Amino acid sequence: MDILNEDLLHYSELHTTPESPLLKAINRDTHAKVMMPRMLSGHLQGRVLSMISKLIQPKLILEIGTYTGYSAICLAEGLAPEGKLITIDINEELQDKVKKYFDEAGLSSKVQYRIGDATKIVSTLDGPFDLVFIDADKENYSRYYDMVIDKVREGGIILADNVLWSGKVLQAKQDKDTRAIVEFNKKIQQDIRVENVLLPIRDGILMIRKLSL
Ligand code: SAH
Ligand code: CA
Repeated sequence: MDILNEDLLHYSELHTTPESPLLKAINRDTHAKVMMPRMLSGHLQGRVLSMISKLIQPKLILEIGTYTGYSAICLAEGLAPEGKLITIDINEELQDKVKKYFDEAGLSSKVQYRIGDATKIVSTLDGPFDLVFIDADKENYSRYYDMVIDKVREGGIILADNVLWSGKVLQAKQDKDTRAIVEFNKKIQQDIRVENVLLPIRDGILMIRKLSL
């Protein structure tokens, strides 16, 4: 289930800054040659990520779930002059492709691309993070959140993708991933350390802002 009907999505994209030629090529190439291309953020969501990052001007971004690098490149567009982005993915098969894309984006010195299991890597990283994008295995969303929250600066932002899970969050009978996302959304809603808004963009983005204590 898509939240927005096709015509309205098309109209929204027509009134959104186009993708750069590189992002367009990554989008096309991913759809032609990579498994599960629906995972790629795409034009509209990519511009949302870019816009949010530009508003924050982060010095340090953490992305969990690189896939083909599309969202990483969008998020990196907002980096402060000396800013860095760390992105993690467990799939080593995409490594060469993704490194090439980061090079082409002129990001090789700004991006630290880590291959491995994020449930192990995240706890070894030092913050403070200004912006975190959680977009890997849905089962571990709550775990990733718990691992990063203390490393996010006050006023920092965590974005969690696919929190509407194609509308499955409303279904009575839920599979493992759906249950994990429902639990995650509930946990954030109850966490007094943050304020949050669920943006019904594409598959749902939960935007979480850490409060000052
Ligand atoms: N952020 C990308 C899409 C990410 S798709 C975009 O918007 O374009 C989700 C990715 O999470 C996949 O590439 C998958 O390999 C990765 N992933 C799944 N489990 C993981 C884990 N435990 N650690 C790190 N990456 C993981
Ligand atoms: Ca996603």
